[in-house]
Amino acid sequence: MRLELTLQCDECKEQNYRTSRNRDGVEKINIKKYCSRCRTRTLHKEKRK
Ligand SMILES: [Zn+2]
Repeated sequence: MRLELTLQCDECKEQNYRTSRNRDGVEKINIKKYCSRCRTRTLHKEKRK
């Protein structure tokens, strides 16, 4: 079973990326990615639907 996730910029709360992953993963995804609104790399956190 796959979970749909949205990766949300921790600075401006823009939802920049969509991804999916196995349900097995327990810990939350925190990843540094480029945010087009902040115009820099920021921490993105998963947000479940
Ligand atoms: Zn941002």
